[in-house]
Amino acid sequence: MEKKLYIVRCGEVALKGMNKPYFERILLERVRKAIECYEDAEARWIDGLMFVRIPADIPEDEVIGRCVRVFGVASVSPAIEAPKDINEIGRLAAEYMLQIIEEEGVKTFKVKGKRADKSFAVQSPEIGKQVGAIILKTCKVLSVDVHDPDVLLTVDVRREGAYIFRDKIKGFGGLPLGTNGKGMILMSGGIDSPVAAFMMAKRGMSIEAVHFHSYPYTSQRAQKKVEDLVKVLAGYMGTIRMHVVNLLPIQEQIVQNCPEDETTLLVRRFMMRIAEQIAVKNHNMMLITGEDLGQVASQTAEALVVTDSVVKMPVMRPLIAMDKVDIMDKAREIGTYDISIQPYEDCCTVFLPKHPVTKPKLARIEKSEAALDVQALVDAAVASEEIIEIRP
Ligand code: ATP
Ligand code: MG
Repeated sequence: MEKKLYIVRCGEVALKGMNKPYFERILLERVRKAIECYEDAEARWIDGLMFVRIPADIPEDEVIGRCVRVFGVASVSPAIEAPKDINEIGRLAAEYMLQIIEEEGVKTFKVKGKRADKSFAVQSPEIGKQVGAIILKTCKVLSVDVHDPDVLLTVDVRREGAYIFRDKIKGFGGLPLGTNGKGMILMSGGIDSPVAAFMMAKRGMSIEAVHFHSYPYTSQRAQKKVEDLVKVLAGYMGTIRMHVVNLLPIQEQIVQNCPEDETTLLVRRFMMRIAEQIAVKNHNMMLITGEDLGQVASQTAEALVVTDSVVKMPVMRPLIAMDKVDIMDKAREIGTYDISIQPYEDCCTVFLPKHPVTKPKLARIEKSEAALDVQALVDAAVASEEIIEIRP
C-alpha cells in the first residue's frame, strides 16, 4: 500500500536540554498511539522532525486532525518526498501544483528553498528559483508572486531526502501528556472546568475527574452532559476516569444546619475535601478547578481563601486571571463550548442562596461548619462514589 508522508514538528520539546530524548520518546509514543488505528502507520524522529507515514487512502484532514490533537505537536504538514536531485524535485513540485490548480484554481505561487544539508550543491535561494522555473514551464496558468502568493511551497533539502510541502497546520503545542504528573479536575457541566482540564493536560499533566451531582434534584441528563464534555477531552487525552459523587446528603445537612448565605461556600469546601480524599486514593498530586478570580460570589479572593483552606494538596486554577470572553473562545477552540451551554442544572445551583456572601470570614465559616460532622459526611460521600471510564 502506498503511503503518504506527514511532517510533524514539536514546539517546546525542541527547547529541552538534557531531558530532550525523554520528551521526544514520550511524544513519539503519543503520536504512535494517535495513529495506531491505521494499518501499517509509522512514526519516527529524524534530525529533530517526526516523519509520519500513513496509507495514502486515508483522508488527509483526518490524519492531521489526529496529529494536531497530540500535546507537544506544534504543527503538521502533509509532504511529498523527492530524491535529492533538483530536476526531480522540480518535476514532483510541478505535479503537485497541477493537482492544486485543479482542486483550487490558484493563480500565483512562490517557492521557498531550504537547505539543511549543506552538501547539496544548490543553495537555498537557487533551489527556490530553479524549482519555480520548472513549475512555471509545466503550469502555464501560474505566475510568481513573491509578496502574496496563493500558494507558498517550501522545498526542504535534508540529509536523508528532499521534502515539498505547502501548509503548516498548527497544533496546540505544550508538552506530551504524562510528562507532568497526574491531577484531579473538579468537573462541572459549565464552560470553565473543561478548559481548565485542557490547559493542565496541555502542559503534560494526566487527568482524572470528579463530578458532583444532586440527584434527583439534578437530572440524569445533566450528568450525561458532563460525560459528553469529558468525552471531548478524552479526544485529546485518551480514556479518562471520572468519579461521580452524590452531594445531596451533604447539601441537605448544610441547608438544615447552617446560615443560608453561606450555603455555596460550605458546599464548595465539601467538594474540595471529597476531591482531595479521592485524589490521594488515586495517586493524583494536585486538584484542578475552573475558578476564575471574581467571576461569581464563590470566586472572590476572600472566598477562594475559604475554599482553599480545607485542603493540603496544591490547587491549580489555570483560568484564575483570564477574562470570561477569552475562556469562552478557548472552549470553542477545543470543542467543548456548545456542550457547556446546554441548559442543564448543576448541583451548585440547586440550593443557591438569594444573597451569597462575597467577603466571607474564615472563622465564621468554620463556626457554621461546626454544626456538622464533617469527617463522617466526607467519608460517606467518598465511599458512595461511582467510577466511570470515558473513552474518546
Ligand atoms: P464552570 O463553568 O466550570 O462550571 P463556574 O463559573 O460555573 O465554573 P462554579 O460553579 O462556582 O463556577 O464552580 C467553580 C469550580 O468548581 C468549577 O470550575 C469546577 O472546577 C468546580 N465545580 C463546580 N461545580 C462542580 C460539580 N458539580 N462537580 C465538580 N466540580 C464542580
Ligand atoms: Mg459551574
